[in-house]
Amino acid sequence: MDINKLVRPNILALKPYSCARDEFKGSARAFLDANENAFMHPYNRYPDPLNMDVKELIAGINGCRGSQIFLGVGSDECIDMVYRVFCRPGVDNVVAIDPTYGMYSVCAAINDVEYRPVPLNADFSLDADRVLAATDSNTKAIWVCSPNNPTGNAFAYEELRALLERFDGLVIVDEAYGDFNDGESMISRLDALPGLIVLRTFSKAWGNAAIRLGMAFASETVIDLFNKVKYPYNINALTRSQAMDMLGRADEVAALAAEIVKVRGDLATRLAALPTVRRVYPSQANFLLVKVDDADALYSYLSGRGIVVRNRTNVNLCDDCLRVTVGTPEENDLLISALNDYER
Ligand SMILES: *Cc1c(COP(=O)(O)O)cnc(C)c1O
Repeated sequence: MDINKLVRPNILALKPYSCARDEFKGSARAFLDANENAFMHPYNRYPDPLNMDVKELIAGINGCRGSQIFLGVGSDECIDMVYRVFCRPGVDNVVAIDPTYGMYSVCAAINDVEYRPVPLNADFSLDADRVLAATDSNTKAIWVCSPNNPTGNAFAYEELRALLERFDGLVIVDEAYGDFNDGESMISRLDALPGLIVLRTFSKAWGNAAIRLGMAFASETVIDLFNKVKYPYNINALTRSQAMDMLGRADEVAALAAEIVKVRGDLATRLAALPTVRRVYPSQANFLLVKVDDADALYSYLSGRGIVVRNRTNVNLCDDCLRVTVGTPEENDLLISALNDYER
């Protein structure tokens, strides 16, 4: 598979912006190249454009190479990058499982790329033949999210295998909730699968949604293309510094994710016991998809009590479903006590 054959011709031909600091090799004594203010430490200087040291730490945690990592302003930038690098506006298309995370279709619309949703089975499993049947010669990418938002289930490698082996384009597996899943990450398959892109983020288990840092893991060819197209200094110095701090606390993050998984189990049991709850779906993420008698009514009731959940009733396969994030013990108690007071 030749990745370069998938790339938009204008991107393949692009000569990226190059700053003087990229061109200079060695140890500098005076930075007089970028028209910064020489005073006002420490934020007066432009940040590192590539953050290789951050990537090496991330690579160590995920068992890959730093050169296989792109850092974006949230996973959202990584998602947008797929369109900007690979999809010709008005010509190419992408295929995605449905329901799934909303940004894949929003970014498709922004980039004028046709988006083809393919329904999951009623039990939220994936029909690879149906997904493949939706592709054609202009399909550049297939979007999969695992564990999937909002359904909560993860797709094992065996379920994705047909897509990865038979589709001649990119398969993106968004593992935003991967830290809550006991299954293996697709990152270990990168060297065998040149069309695979895996997304991860600091926004969920890593507890740092505010710093806006997401990661794409892919072949060096894909990563080089992303780096060529991104804004030169997309990751700011405050984000970088907080990320470095968090990467030194990986054990703490893993322990907290395990605790959230445990609380998720308790919360599922408590929710399932309520009269208005018809079903709590199994989850490999830090949220629960809950089918209730009347999602709109329950959503309004909870809003009135100051409790914000996500109403997914208008989403395919999610009739009368609310998506509830696992909160602090206090927040979970507040939810359960409001639900106990709820009169149908
Ligand atoms: C929350 C979420 C993200 C995170 O996006 P960021 O831009 O990194 O905050 C990515 N993918 C999915 C499926 C999500 O639910």
